[in-house]
Amino acid sequence: MTAVQRVAIAGAGFAGLGAAILLAEGGVEVEVYESKPELSAIGSGITLQGNLLRILDQLGVWQEAKAKSYGFDMLALRTPGPVANVIAEIPDQRMGGPEFPATAGMYRPDLAKILLDRAESLGARVHFGTSVTGVSTDATGVDITLSTGETTRVDLLIGADGLHSAVRSLIGIEITPRTTGMGIWRAFVPRPESVKYTELYYGGPCYIAGYCPTGEDTMYAYLVEKAQDRSGVSDEDAVRIMGELSMAYHGPWDDFRENLSTSSRVNYTWFTEHVVDAPWNRGRAVVIGDAAHSAPPTLAQGAAQALEDAVVLAELLLASDEVDQPMWDAFHERRVARAREVVAASVQLGDWLIEGNRDAPIPALMGRIAALVSNRP
Ligand SMILES: Cc1cc2nc3c(=O)[nH]c(=O)nc-3n(C[C@H](O)[C@H](O)[C@H](O)COP(=O)(O)OP(=O)(O)OC[C@H]3O[C@@H](n4cnc5c(N)ncnc54)[C@H](O)[C@@H]3O)c2cc1C
Repeated sequence: MTAVQRVAIAGAGFAGLGAAILLAEGGVEVEVYESKPELSAIGSGITLQGNLLRILDQLGVWQEAKAKSYGFDMLALRTPGPVANVIAEIPDQRMGGPEFPATAGMYRPDLAKILLDRAESLGARVHFGTSVTGVSTDATGVDITLSTGETTRVDLLIGADGLHSAVRSLIGIEITPRTTGMGIWRAFVPRPESVKYTELYYGGPCYIAGYCPTGEDTMYAYLVEKAQDRSGVSDEDAVRIMGELSMAYHGPWDDFRENLSTSSRVNYTWFTEHVVDAPWNRGRAVVIGDAAHSAPPTLAQGAAQALEDAVVLAELLLASDEVDQPMWDAFHERRVARAREVVAASVQLGDWLIEGNRDAPIPALMGRIAALVSNRP
């Protein structure tokens, strides 16, 4: 018999739905509680690295995701300024194995919908508009309280409720994600024919200007600046500010600028970092994904690391007879150092850009992380 028969998951993001799919497929009764009233159909693009694509395959959704994404094996560097010279075209390593592209760009809500449909088709019950508000764990199970006022008892609670995780605080893990000093503007825009892979511009008024194709007709563009208080900026002002910041960048940027409008879903977010020290569990409640660690998306590994947590946890729960210390030790052994290394490298990359360090060994750092995440966790 598996270690758990009934599991509750807080959060229907990558980590929560990844765990829900694998546990439901393994015959576990799964209840997912998601605080939002529904999956948002509005969002931006996401860069999916090969180690994440490999997990989508394991979750049984790769073919569907492939059809709705844009895969590529190259990264280009360009210069700011009117000519936008391509200074390097770097073949990207296929970190998920030869059968997956090195990277794929995708519209986030499309991926969220694919994961949700898969989880529900396997029998996981997803309760929208319901938060986990109370947790009491003992030797044999967890009593959880929901925002509906209901209580329920399960064998295990997975806190996959993101950066500001309520489960994390409810089980007494005190940590506040640190802002790293960078903020990002993102916009969803039409893809010009010439954009076939991610291109990055270092320098100019922003630390990074970049874009990533997400489909035949779509892509997302981003500008990373010094973190500023942009709260209260209207949609019209967001379009104006992003347009102004982008004036230093040309090539395809000329095209995006022309197409930027309030329907480009321009949004602004700060980068954060944190890693919860082991253990990530308190009794039979555990945090995974952004609840356990966050990183600036300089290596685009956040969702991949969240899904890796889900895969390793589900695998151990399905293979073990008991939720016991050896199981938790195995989980932490496989996840904590790896996540910490990815977070540290992502932060380092951002810090080098903030310092304006032009001699930083960026290729060596990227190569080290690529080698690390190419191995299964
Ligand atoms: C600007 C930016 C760009 C990024 N770009 C990339 C990228 O290109 N590639 C990449 O791999 N990663 C990227 N990341 C990181 C990535 O978005 C996260 O690492 C990933 O979303 C983490 O998934 P998660 O499931 O742990 O958390 P989330 O995706 O945050 O999901 C948590 C869910 O829990 C719900 N929730 C919150 N509180 C409760 C509660 N109390 N009860 C129930 N539900 C609750 C939330 O509504 C949410 O749906 C980026 C991050 C940022 C900030």
